[in-house]
Amino acid sequence: MQKRIIMTRKKRIALIAHDRRKKDLIEWVEFNKGTLSEHELFATGTTGSLIEQKTGLKVTKFKSGPLGGDQEIGAKISNGEIDILIFFWDPLEPLAHDVDIKALIRIATVYNIPVAITRSTADFLISSPLFKSEYERIQPDYESELKEKIMKIVQQKSEQS
Ligand code: PGA
Repeated sequence: MQKRIIMTRKKRIALIAHDRRKKDLIEWVEFNKGTLSEHELFATGTTGSLIEQKTGLKVTKFKSGPLGGDQEIGAKISNGEIDILIFFWDPLEPLAHDVDIKALIRIATVYNIPVAITRSTADFLISSPLFKSEYERIQPDYESELKEKIMKIVQQKSEQS
């Protein structure tokens, strides 16, 4: 079973960059400021503050990544409140919150949202006509799957007793 989720023209975009990739992300945001200003922006604490200071764009900020910000964004994705994830992670250094980073990428995959982990992918994503138009995202119907699973377990239990 599959479910179709409508992504509106105005997207809710989460932006995260690890320390050694923050310069890259700020440059990317500055370059795409016009397009990004038409959408709603979210970010982890430090990334969000830097974007606001350097570009003047308004950003809803969560906690800093190592203090739970990645998990807050993951929770928003699972609640259907984030449409796109731009995540410039650091591939050259182990970080204290590596497990949170893995979890965030996993949850973005579970809900089939567009994710850019490289600057070139972010370029392709933002220049896609779909970035500015309505889009139907397909994802497995997890709620129905769960209901079915629970029903099966309940049935098995009643057969056993
Ligand atoms: P920061 O968090 O924006 O607070 O630096 C990013 C991260 O390290 O995940």
